[in-house]
Amino acid sequence: MAAFLSTSDLFKNVMKTMKEAGEIANISPNALERLKTPRRSIMVSIPVSMDDGNIKVFTGYRVQHNQTLGPFKGGLRYHETVNLSEVAGLATLMTMKTSLLQLPLGGAKGGVEVDPSKLSNHELEKLTRSFATELGPFIGPDKDIPAPDVGTDSQTMAWILDTYSSESGYAQTGVVTGKPVEIGGSLGRDSATGLGVVYTIEKALETRNENIKDVTIAIQGFGKVGLHAANEAFALGGKIVSVSDVEGAIYNPEGLNIRELIQFSHEKGSVIGFPGAKAITNDELLFLDVDVLAPCALDGVINSINVNNVRAKIIVEGANGPVTANASHILNSNGIMVVPDILANGGGVVVSYFEWVQDLDWHFWEEATVRGKLKSVMYKSFDKVWSFSKEHHKDMRTSAMAVALLRLEKALKLRGQAW
Ligand code: GLU
Repeated sequence: MAAFLSTSDLFKNVMKTMKEAGEIANISPNALERLKTPRRSIMVSIPVSMDDGNIKVFTGYRVQHNQTLGPFKGGLRYHETVNLSEVAGLATLMTMKTSLLQLPLGGAKGGVEVDPSKLSNHELEKLTRSFATELGPFIGPDKDIPAPDVGTDSQTMAWILDTYSSESGYAQTGVVTGKPVEIGGSLGRDSATGLGVVYTIEKALETRNENIKDVTIAIQGFGKVGLHAANEAFALGGKIVSVSDVEGAIYNPEGLNIRELIQFSHEKGSVIGFPGAKAITNDELLFLDVDVLAPCALDGVINSINVNNVRAKIIVEGANGPVTANASHILNSNGIMVVPDILANGGGVVVSYFEWVQDLDWHFWEEATVRGKLKSVMYKSFDKVWSFSKEHHKDMRTSAMAVALLRLEKALKLRGQAW
């Protein structure tokens, strides 16, 4: 394997889980060999003339991991720590996610090494349009369909759609998903990942004969995933005792009124200072004695160093890779269920798929239809992973990857790409 690929912990964690799952599911070594490296890795320079008149060159990536099941699919991340190895790990996870969720899509991921909060809106638009131009030959509705991820949103997708469409001379709404509904987006896409997290929590609780109405929940992150997860869990009667954002966390053992909190954080720009809640640190949130912990921010937050402080009974990975592979094993042996990212946060790409289908069809669905279909995919996928886990006496992370690998192995064999 190319040495540069394995420089990030995230990539190493994904490979470790893939190897373990491959052994349990008895996947052919040829299929595993193919899935260890991405099919194509694109690295581009993005010069941007900044508001102060100087040129700054940013580095962008798109890693197209696998397209055996369909066109490449996955988000674009704007974050200062983005690098090729991390993007490759995330692209591999996308291949596993789309496979597990039974979507006719492959896996990809991209990103730019940039702190978007340091750029003006005008600079962000220029950066995004130049990045879209560089990616132009490699993306398209039937080739590779980007979507939002950490640090990007529906506006980012709108700029990509516009740049791509201008350059091709035709409206190409299917080139990205997670775009505004006014220009071909799907109703329910914004809240999809958070909703998926909550459907997963419901199913995880069901395995313990528990109900969301009777449990305490802590959610790390109050952004694209965490906010919607909190909102839906609250609507279903769950008691959310703690949430956080980049500024820190808040805690109220009696439960937070999420409706009011959304309003508050919208006005103040943070959850900190919400009346009736105590300020705690993001780490303290992770170690609260709650029934369910949903880390919905960045990767690696629960790791070998802090894992023994975790007291939650169920962890549902709203983010990609928030629990490292080692920490996951330790949690499992402590009797804590970890529902892995490729299952728990799959709601986003599921509704991205619905959006893409609606774009190709030029026919749009009601939000209730989107929600109903999303719930059905999430429940079925959970059941599949849970059955594998029971049958093979394996944890949920290994089981989810095993279910994904089994579908991929079949497709690779049918296409003559492995045997
Ligand atoms: N970025 C999201 C993920 O990691 C969504 C990807 C997509 O919709 O293509 O799953």
